[in-house]
Amino acid sequence: MYDSNNVFAKIIRGEIPCKQVYSDEYALAFYDVNPRAKTHVLVIPRADYTDIYDFTANAPIEFQAGFWRAVRNTVNELGLQGGFRSVANTGATAGQSVFHFHLHIMSDERFKTDF
Ligand code: AMP
Repeated sequence: MYDSNNVFAKIIRGEIPCKQVYSDEYALAFYDVNPRAKTHVLVIPRADYTDIYDFTANAPIEFQAGFWRAVRNTVNELGLQGGFRSVANTGATAGQSVFHFHLHIMSDERFKTDF
């Protein structure tokens, strides 16, 4: 069940700051505060879904399309068209710590493996 007190919900509401990369009506992208790659950005939907499993089952298909376009726009904004890694931890046992769906976008050759 979605808890609107999570840190990413607070970022969307403007209650805490973020270092923004991209924003539109569907999504917000910002730098991870604890980067595990040279470039490490999180893309989050502007809607209340706990993880990718919840999002893909329950978000309206038009909204899902908007979100994935925002991911692509974020990649272009970062200049990562040549290659990047994306991760969506799902569930505490899989390493998820913030329960608002987010996609990690990372790039460089020194990835750490703490996902
Ligand atoms: P996960 O472990 O997959 O749930 O990822 C959550 C990510 O959110 C971690 O990589 C954290 O470093 C990052 N994070 C937590 N709080 C903030 C914040 N206020 N601003 C940016 N990134 C954050």
